[in-house]
Amino acid sequence: MQFKDLYRTARSPVLSIEIFPPKTEKGRAHLEKEIAQLLRHPVGFVSVTYGAGGSTRENTLSLAKQIRDQYGVTTVPHFTCVGASRSSILEFANRAIAEGAENMVALRGDPPKGQKTFIPAADGFRYAYQLVAFLKTHYGDKLSLAVAGYPEGHVETRDLATSIEHLKMKVEAGADLVITQLFYDNADFFRFREMAVKAGITVPIVPGLLPITKYSQIHRITQLCGAKIPKDLTKVLLAYDDGSPDQQMAGIAAAIDQAGELLENDVPGIHIFTLNNSFATAHMVEALGHYFR
Ligand SMILES: Cc1cc2nc3c(=O)[nH]c(=O)nc-3n(C[C@H](O)[C@H](O)[C@H](O)COP(=O)(O)OP(=O)(O)OC[C@H]3O[C@@H](n4cnc5c(N)ncnc54)[C@H](O)[C@@H]3O)c2cc1C
Repeated sequence: MQFKDLYRTARSPVLSIEIFPPKTEKGRAHLEKEIAQLLRHPVGFVSVTYGAGGSTRENTLSLAKQIRDQYGVTTVPHFTCVGASRSSILEFANRAIAEGAENMVALRGDPPKGQKTFIPAADGFRYAYQLVAFLKTHYGDKLSLAVAGYPEGHVETRDLATSIEHLKMKVEAGADLVITQLFYDNADFFRFREMAVKAGITVPIVPGLLPITKYSQIHRITQLCGAKIPKDLTKVLLAYDDGSPDQQMAGIAAAIDQAGELLENDVPGIHIFTLNNSFATAHMVEALGHYFR
């Protein structure tokens, strides 16, 4: 089902999950087990990330197809403008559609390693809103598009009002859904949502959540994407050894609290960045299952 219909017709908040294409045989075997566990829950769609520099282009599409075929669940490939000419964008989207995709997450992507600023490919795009407009021109209603939103502002655009102006450009270009970057302080999300709505953004805004099961790993990710882990949460997590079962359970408990508060405050769904593991997501969905029925 397309994003634009899914959120409009859903009778309860939509649970969606994000996975990434593994690079090794071991990673593939692990994901195969984990995805079976994840899909025991009422998942509205599975989104499949697109590797930095287009490195997993092939894997993104084949994984999305494989899971769609095997489980009958809606899967959604991500795509970025990194190294992408217009013809390669069309190639990707044509194949995605031919293989059954009805949605896509349209992104600019991060500058490749060693590059400070984003340099568009020759004949490619500098910003995600241009990609959205291009896809809409070529595919119209065949593809429903999601774009990224940043409750704490984007790393290159820390001013929230400006970041929201840029988000609005993506929605005006044709995006049907906003999925946010991870965040741990719901106050940031609520302020962002309020400002977005005031700015005239009317499409569903879905919070992206990453449960912390290993502090050092998630801390590194937050440093890269410019999100913060609040001091009191950090204190709780650092009372335990890094990645220990106690730290995992504390991180999962915090994620359940965070998601619970969001679900009490009218979010259209939650999007969980699973990092290809089912453990934390399963705990969250079991604790919050009544919201998804
Ligand atoms: C839900 C989600 C999924 C993601 N999945 C992936 C993935 O699969 N693969 C991957 O590589 N990355 C992924 N990312 C990360 C994303 O690629 C980065 O955050 C990237 O730096 C920005 O992408 P964007 O699509 O938001 O870019 P844009 O919306 O183009 O924004 C990029 C920067 O340009 C600024 N900007 C936008 N428009 C203008 C304008 N008109 N004038 C001036 N400045 C402007 C923005 O404020 C921002 O600072 C994901 C992020 C999220 C939140």
